Amino acid sequence: MAKKGHKYIFVLGGVMSGVGKGVATSSIGLLLQQKGYAVNLVKVDPYLNVDAGTMNPTEHGEVFVLKSGLETDQDMGNYERFLNRDLTPEDYMTSGMVYQSVIDRERALGYGGKCVEAIPHVRDEIMRRFEAAAAYNGSHISVIEIGGTVGDFQNALFIEAARVLKMERPEDVLFVIVSYLPTPGTLGEMKTKPTQTAVRDLNSYGVQPDFIIARSHEPIDEKRKEKIAVSCNVRKDHIISAPDIKSIYEAPLNFNRGKLGDEMLEALHLSEKRKASLAAWKRFALAVNDEKAPEVSIAIVGKYFDTGDFVLSDAYLSVIEAIKFSAAKLGRRADITWINSKHFEEGEPVAQLGKYQGIIVPGGFGESGIEGKIKAIQYAREHKIPYLGLCYGMQLMVIEYARHVAGIKNAHTTEIKKSAEAPVVDIMPEQKQNLSAGNYGATMRLGAYPAHLKKGTIARAAYKKELIEERHRHRYEINPAYIEQITNAGLVFSGTSPDGVLMEIAELPRSVHPFMLGTQFHPELQARPLEPHPLFTEFLKAAAVHSSKA
Ligand code: GLN
Repeated sequence: MAKKGHKYIFVLGGVMSGVGKGVATSSIGLLLQQKGYAVNLVKVDPYLNVDAGTMNPTEHGEVFVLKSGLETDQDMGNYERFLNRDLTPEDYMTSGMVYQSVIDRERALGYGGKCVEAIPHVRDEIMRRFEAAAAYNGSHISVIEIGGTVGDFQNALFIEAARVLKMERPEDVLFVIVSYLPTPGTLGEMKTKPTQTAVRDLNSYGVQPDFIIARSHEPIDEKRKEKIAVSCNVRKDHIISAPDIKSIYEAPLNFNRGKLGDEMLEALHLSEKRKASLAAWKRFALAVNDEKAPEVSIAIVGKYFDTGDFVLSDAYLSVIEAIKFSAAKLGRRADITWINSKHFEEGEPVAQLGKYQGIIVPGGFGESGIEGKIKAIQYAREHKIPYLGLCYGMQLMVIEYARHVAGIKNAHTTEIKKSAEAPVVDIMPEQKQNLSAGNYGATMRLGAYPAHLKKGTIARAAYKKELIEERHRHRYEINPAYIEQITNAGLVFSGTSPDGVLMEIAELPRSVHPFMLGTQFHPELQARPLEPHPLFTEFLKAAAVHSSKA
């Protein structure tokens, strides 16, 4: 059970999705944390997948892996970045997870012969999870984002569970609706009606919002605030104007100007424990948006690029953010270009990469665009362009080196070529079993693992310590049988599992290349606005001084 007096803030969406519920949730969390409260942020995803791991990133955005290894929605990444702390599996739930618990319990006769129903059993399981998240984290306040919009079939049981919690502890629960106020081009006037309708929809669940975050293109004026207040039955000072902003990192600053944190504490019967200091955040938000900062041009060479810009940035969200944080720290602005590696296979000249100051090959799965990526990596190595390889980007960097420098001509990964003559990247035995049993969900090497860093390497100098912990998500590893041959040819495995068996970081010495490094893990998952990731920072430092052939 959660502590007595534990507070819950539920964040719901009205009118339409995609207007920034996740950012609102993260910002509320940050503001309350800055006022001295321990906060945990919870994401509720109403879909039936048991976790986000089996979903295609071009359709659903990046899969964000928690320290524990749970594969979650990309919103969890934003939560961690705003709070600057790790979240736990208790902080994430899907309908699939909830139903799986209820059904497992029913199969084990856990309901004592009763008919098992959505109400009360599924609802109660949801409430148990809300409480478990609060208790596990030992926080004062849980901010819980319910995915989808009010009126969806899928999220109704979650709203119902929240309603019952409010009924049981009226002093401890707040509802926030993040709504949208459109300004139709033909009218040129901001309309409040959709928000009024959304609130009425929410009322039909027996829920009255305490706050309305009014998203719109321009700030909302007093007249409209009054109109919304009266028609939606919400205090005027609880209607927070949230106009479009240049970057999501400005949102907490805007909310703070609207006194959202103070108003929420008051509504929760809490007093401010300390004056919120957003100074460091403000400095970061300014730096990350500084359009006058000198540019550093980065090419990201990958494959999930066919579906247009809209999806693209979501599929690699953490990578983009990690680049931005390190660039801001260095007083730079990263100009990112997306390059589809398939084009290099179709004959487009790889020399176009000479235009960029740095190249990244991010994580990925499957065959498509692989040889194009290898060409790009070879170009980066031979032309001494700073290179960072993330997971697949590291495996392919090792394959490229094996083929072209270590003389292992047929080097390949068994992910692509099962019968590869030289399986330099190979599947782990337990992964083989998983795949042959058709066991795909949550069975990769997932979550945080320690790695030991070799003295005198770029990695060790960047991290400034010997033992690190980073998050993984992959099935394949560098094959130990080839390590000696590759190492003798000059590639350095600067990070390994503590027992020395798994290769976690590969790099070329600075004497041969300004920065050529790949990680078997995903460093981007631990990059934070106020704590940029050291490897991204080192990569960008090298890129910043590289003169491209523009
Ligand atoms: N496909 C590779 C593997 O499973 C790399 C995965 C990744 O880049 N996340 O090992």
